[in-house]
Amino acid sequence: MIDLFIKKQNLPRYRSDQIFKAYYQDCISSWDDLTTWPQYLREELKKDIPFSTIYNSIEKVSKDKNTIKLLCYTKDNYPIETVLMKTKDRNTICVSCMSGCPVGCKFCATGQMGFKKNLSTEEIIDQIMYFKRILKRDNKEITNIVFMGMGEPMLNLDNVTKAISILTNPQKIGLSHRRITVSTAGYISELKRFLDMNLGIKIAISLHAPNQKLREKIMPTVSKKNKIEDLISLLITYQKKTNKKVTYEYLLLRDVNDKPEHAKELAKLLKNQIALVNLINFNESDGIQFK
Ligand code: SF4
Repeated sequence: MIDLFIKKQNLPRYRSDQIFKAYYQDCISSWDDLTTWPQYLREELKKDIPFSTIYNSIEKVSKDKNTIKLLCYTKDNYPIETVLMKTKDRNTICVSCMSGCPVGCKFCATGQMGFKKNLSTEEIIDQIMYFKRILKRDNKEITNIVFMGMGEPMLNLDNVTKAISILTNPQKIGLSHRRITVSTAGYISELKRFLDMNLGIKIAISLHAPNQKLREKIMPTVSKKNKIEDLISLLITYQKKTNKKVTYEYLLLRDVNDKPEHAKELAKLLKNQIALVNLINFNESDGIQFK
């Protein structure tokens, strides 16, 4: 939206340098703080562009203060969740690309709430800017972004890709591509399109099962149309071409996918790759049958 405003107003290059620096790097907290612009231009900007596209923010801070969960709403009142996780060396933001999710994985609370809407590029970036401003107050920076919040990035690929270009633009947020991870449940044709863009982004696959039958049980929507062997074959090809490691997320569901035979089957499935398997403990949640 900022780029469109600059174009519409036919502003010179130095005006875009000023607004990008103030907004993305100095992390101003309202358009009134854009003091490098004259007031008449700020007023035009205020009329055209909301300072943020996320509203009614509620923060939940963990006891050790290292995790902040943000619940906020889009202008049309759909909920979004975002999380900031702080450790000694990293400040990672887990960002949502949808409100709700149409994929409906059986173990996922977001999936059970159904699909509300795809988030716009601005709604994605504003989640990140919200936490960038908080970190800036402590002289800290975002170190990593993971697209692992609400929603399936491959089903909102255009807006996710545009958000990545803002994140990695040195004039804007300026993060290295290597510090961004996009996680997908495995929509093969969209994933192929994304991998072919060759953005240098890290890829994580929400695998959660070592075979087609079990995957169809716990992730039916994505698995029925996107067979596990086709998914793995695409990733082997990608890896041969790029020599990049792929991360596989594997949620441990008691007595469902956590037996020794599942581990052996998983090792066999991934044997032709440099793969990192990330085992995740399941957090029980109301209305979800798994432990
Ligand atoms: S794709 Fe991700 S967000 Fe969507 S239902 Fe499955 S696990 Fe949940």
